[in-house]
Amino acid sequence: TFEVISQHGDHEQVVFCNDPHVGLKAIIAIHNTSLGPALGGTRMWNYKNEDEALVDVLRLSKGMTYKAAAAGLNLGGGKAVIIGDAKTQKSEGLFRAFGQFVNSLNGKYITAEDVGTNVQDMEHIYMETPWVTGIPKDFGGSGDPSPYTAHGVLMGIKASAQEKFGTAALKGMRISVQGLGNVGSNLVRYLNEEGAIVTVADIDMNRTKKVAEQFGAKAVSPEEILTVESDIFAPCALGAVVNDQTISKFKTKVIAGGANNVLAEARHGDHLKELGILYAPDYVINAGGLMNVFVELEGYSPERAFEKTKRVFDNILKVYEIAKRDNIGTHTAADRLAEERINTIGRLKQRH
Ligand code: NAD
Repeated sequence: TFEVISQHGDHEQVVFCNDPHVGLKAIIAIHNTSLGPALGGTRMWNYKNEDEALVDVLRLSKGMTYKAAAAGLNLGGGKAVIIGDAKTQKSEGLFRAFGQFVNSLNGKYITAEDVGTNVQDMEHIYMETPWVTGIPKDFGGSGDPSPYTAHGVLMGIKASAQEKFGTAALKGMRISVQGLGNVGSNLVRYLNEEGAIVTVADIDMNRTKKVAEQFGAKAVSPEEILTVESDIFAPCALGAVVNDQTISKFKTKVIAGGANNVLAEARHGDHLKELGILYAPDYVINAGGLMNVFVELEGYSPERAFEKTKRVFDNILKVYEIAKRDNIGTHTAADRLAEERINTIGRLKQRH
């Protein structure tokens, strides 16, 4: 196990949680706490085996360290996975048992929702530990993060427009949005308010039609959205949209959206640089949801959470500065921004 851990990062602590009475098998990975407590959601997934679960939690927790650091938050990176079928194997007992394990870490790890878990599961965890975010609104929680994620994405789009076109005003700019779920539909609403000329697509045609009508956008097919001519393309569906098949087909100047893992591989980020397409790194531009749960830790206020998401603008500009300074792709510059902050601020904190 130590060998697997060292292959996937320099994680501080990995906790295996076992409670056969409730069928709990979970792994909590704490990657780095230099900047603050390790925050990251709990994923429930039917992993084929423990190794697959371990690799996933190691990879995801390291990602959270970078995301929080680049967001300018005083948080470290962590993540948890529960091995099991989210449709059939959930119970109050399972999540309360898991909550007790979270509690045993005394706040070094703070959990939240992720794929396969929901607000009700967080409520059960909250019965055993205060170290959980994303709890229901009537418990003082922050509720659905996607409007905040979408607002952060809007800020990142504006920063990218400033960098590429010399103006952050989106009026008259042609913006295509792929995926009209929680994040995408909120983004289209904001873009409409900004006066952008928006084109939209979702694999769910009814949704495409509805969002297009509601916000005066042009509807196209899921295939067309990748090749339609635009100033900015905003991926808000699933990952790996920039891959060997798609990369030469984009007719856009900027890629800036809410989706995670936009690049199929890191080399596609270098390729975008060569093509002269400005890429807003996914984990920097979609950090609004994380900012929202961070505010929950301070005592939640929707107004302050909304204000905080405006910081995505400066964070994205910082990434572009580093990319120019070091002549590297923006995806590499994002990692550098995170690492520089962990090294400088993390070291400062050690002094106390
Ligand atoms: P969602 O499931 O609500 O929406 C995704 C939408 O994309 C769905 O409507 C789906 O039909 C559509 N879609 C899937 N494949 C498509 C394709 N090939 N072409 C067009 N549309 C397609 O999810 P969401 O919460 O809106 O998240 C969207 C993305 O943003 C995901 O990558 C997610 O990881 C990321 N993200 C979300 C948040 C958040 O706060 N919800 C935060 C950070 C990152």
